[in-house]
Amino acid sequence: MKRRDFLKATAALAAAAPAAGQAALMREPKPMPPQAIGMLYDSTLCIGCKACMSACKEANDLPPERLPEGGEWNTGTWDTPLDLSPTTYNIIKAYVNGTRAEKDRVEDGYAFVKRHCLHCVDPSCVSACPVSAMHKDPLTGLVSHDPSLCIGCRYCVYSCPFGVPRYNYDDPFGQIGKCQLCSHLLAEGGIPACCDVCPTGASLFGPVEQLKAEAQRRLAAAPGTELEFPRGEIGSDRPTHVAATGNYQQHLYGDRELGGTQVMYLAGVPFDKLGLPTDVPDVGYPTLSEGLQHTLYKGMAGPALLLGGLVFLARRNIKRNQADDPLFTDEGMEPDAAAKKEEKDS
Ligand code: SF4
Ligand code: SF4
Ligand code: SF4
Repeated sequence: MKRRDFLKATAALAAAAPAAGQAALMREPKPMPPQAIGMLYDSTLCIGCKACMSACKEANDLPPERLPEGGEWNTGTWDTPLDLSPTTYNIIKAYVNGTRAEKDRVEDGYAFVKRHCLHCVDPSCVSACPVSAMHKDPLTGLVSHDPSLCIGCRYCVYSCPFGVPRYNYDDPFGQIGKCQLCSHLLAEGGIPACCDVCPTGASLFGPVEQLKAEAQRRLAAAPGTELEFPRGEIGSDRPTHVAATGNYQQHLYGDRELGGTQVMYLAGVPFDKLGLPTDVPDVGYPTLSEGLQHTLYKGMAGPALLLGGLVFLARRNIKRNQADDPLFTDEGMEPDAAAKKEEKDS
């Protein structure tokens, strides 16, 4: 490739990228899996009892966490995780403001939020994992982690927009810990432990489409309307929890954020107050990152361009060296000069 041709090709590629626009560089968003299951968490129903946290630990055989020694008076009294960790897959956190006088109110109020994996429709962790240790089930959509494949690179940790996967730095063969929607219990015909024990139905398990319909039923009810809230699994014959509906934010979080999630949220305070990212696109980040990769590597254009560039630079350097050497001409080594050079070198 001549220098001029290479520069022209590079300039054309650089000019084409913005002209084609971001949309052209994106791959198609992933659809909701056909038998998607998930969870509806309703912050207005949550009483912060943390029964779901204990049940999660028990169901997943996870040890308790204690605050560091020298902390509060109750240090070491019970399981006191401050955040998600390799041994805490689910945590209840609280939003508080001012006097905390009223639940689900922004000013002088408080609200609870349950944080764990949202089982994204188009998960960044799956896209970022180089060895497919993070896997999304094509039917149910559950995002699981296979420790036998994991190489501990932590790409999933850095890529998750919700800060969910946690790496166990205390273990020389550290592993990733995160909620797998109790898939081991589902395999036995059960339901996620956190939904099983939730006394108010704040954590509700079921098919995503049915959970979305249930969320719309709640959003359509006027605040204060007495409703029956299913508990455990939607459609089960468990006794319902009867309560007045909260003053909902008129949006189901996870319906569209980052391409949708299979764990969805209703709340009485804005979702960003609960630590959920709201300034996010309606498509998953992998639609852009994978789209760019595929565009660059389409037909091996990227590596070919790189190789072309390296060849060009190598040839240019050879020519520069030759120009500095009186025994070389622009066409290469002169026949008789070769003999002279050999003689000189010896
Ligand atoms: S919340 Fe994070 S860990 Fe869970 S599926 Fe989405 S990207 Fe992966
Ligand atoms: S689904 Fe299972 S692993 Fe996930 S938060 Fe609930 S109890 Fe924990
Ligand atoms: S068990 Fe239910 S009500 Fe209790 S903290 Fe968990 S989600 Fe909230």
